[in-house]
Amino acid sequence: MSELPLTLSLVLRRAARIGGARPVVTARPEGGERRTWAQVTERALRLCGALRRLGVRPGERVATFGWNHHQHLELLLGVPLLGAIVHPINVRLHPDDVVHVSREAEDAVVFVDASLTPVLAELRSRLGHVRHWVVMGEEAEVAPAFAGAPRYEELLAAEAPLENLPEVDERTPASLCYTSGTTGRPQGVEYSHRSLVLHAMGALMVDSMAVSERDVVLPLAPFFHANGWGLPYSAAFAGAALVLPGPRLDAGSVARLIERERVTLAAAVPTVWNAFEPVLREGKHELSSLRRILCGGAPLPMRTIQRFAEHGISFLHAWGMTELGPSGTMARAREEGFPEERLAPLATQGAAVPGIELRVVDGAGRELPWDGTSVGELETRGLWGASRYFRGAAGEERFRDGWLRTGDVATLDAHGALRIVDRTKDLVKSGGEWISSVELENHLMAHPGVKEVAVIAVAHEHWGERPVAVVVRQPESRVSFEELVEHLRPRVASWWLPDAAHFVAELPRTATGKVDKKVLRREYAPRAPGPPIREG
Ligand code: AMP
Repeated sequence: MSELPLTLSLVLRRAARIGGARPVVTARPEGGERRTWAQVTERALRLCGALRRLGVRPGERVATFGWNHHQHLELLLGVPLLGAIVHPINVRLHPDDVVHVSREAEDAVVFVDASLTPVLAELRSRLGHVRHWVVMGEEAEVAPAFAGAPRYEELLAAEAPLENLPEVDERTPASLCYTSGTTGRPQGVEYSHRSLVLHAMGALMVDSMAVSERDVVLPLAPFFHANGWGLPYSAAFAGAALVLPGPRLDAGSVARLIERERVTLAAAVPTVWNAFEPVLREGKHELSSLRRILCGGAPLPMRTIQRFAEHGISFLHAWGMTELGPSGTMARAREEGFPEERLAPLATQGAAVPGIELRVVDGAGRELPWDGTSVGELETRGLWGASRYFRGAAGEERFRDGWLRTGDVATLDAHGALRIVDRTKDLVKSGGEWISSVELENHLMAHPGVKEVAVIAVAHEHWGERPVAVVVRQPESRVSFEELVEHLRPRVASWWLPDAAHFVAELPRTATGKVDKKVLRREYAPRAPGPPIREG
């Protein structure tokens, strides 16, 4: 049989030929910037010419520092065609981490959004390894340090589509994304062409996201987060319409975009969807085109699932990680039964998508039964899973016998449904027994006075650790610690009840929009043990 290599040029050819007339739209304040897949792929090939002129060689890294938009998409598609590696840098990383990842990657060229040039201007002296800077986007002013840098459109205008693309082996790295570093320094994951193509095909499967030619796909997940969850490549392969949100990710802007472009599949972390409550309540936007929302990256509260269900919109609840590029599992609502029955599967993270394998192991690495109750560390491997970190001796202990130790604590049931109990680092160990911070958060989120909540472990003289809740109230709410405890009492074992609640205006977030429990632990853990702090 043919051994046609699994490279992104296969994906691009299909986007150009089969999806050629389908639109690719970038949101702009005054409307949308519209192109077709035929134009995007032609421009990606012109970009290849420009990169070659800049002296980019196969195997070198070309970094990006920008939001999701056309030019950024063309980089995701074009850079790997040359055998070079596109490296989308997380624009929300701490400046020291930006310097660290760019130095580790030895980025030869950096493409930066005009609006983000002030951020890099401060770091430029520490990024001496970068040979060329190119400015993307037109609408914002460019920081003086980048005033002389060429503009993306100037580079492209001078080029014809590159015709003689090099032959690229399917195992060649195509893209490099870093983990968000919730537990330490960000680690790089290099995706091969093969893994990106298989991941893109995986997303087209019916029991996965079922991305199809008839879809209008909106990746709100930034490209620096596992290539926008691989959706640009899946949409290109399927010939689906693609909508790119630019920098505006607030609920109002997203709702307007869904309405205007008739989006059918939107993808983002729970933070984005949790913030949708007022928009849903006001009902000003017509969201009926939305056939499903892909949500993962952090626990998805049942309350959010229910709010959308009341408007006829269902979730695909996915578990994944940067190391998987990121797709791992998928839960979907049942099609029949009472509303609660239909939504029940979404309280889990669902079954592994075809191509990915899971197992839960005990402390000695022995596999535990798939019984829905045996709790252990989740391990994974699959067709698009990393087998090591980029340049990383660090993190080697995460890979064992071809399996990746995820750092997630979980159960698997007889039907294969995964339930994430916690992160290993976030579990509360009280009197030698585990308390799931995720489960407590889910119950607390069901209280109408709670807008957001994080439960953390706080040191305790007697019990070792006890749970403490950090709560953001709904704007009009005065809910108290005692009321929250009464709300929890019928729902969890009495020894799970938090010892205290801190009421705060907002929760700290990591660079990928997840609640940063590291910061919360630093802030609140030293105060304990002590009497419960009820207000703060
Ligand atoms: P990242 O590499 O930044 O995408 O983070 C991956 C981690 O996010 C996983 O190891 C989980 O701890 C967490 N995560 C991802 N999806 C979910 C989910 N659906 N529910 C709970 N936690 C999740």
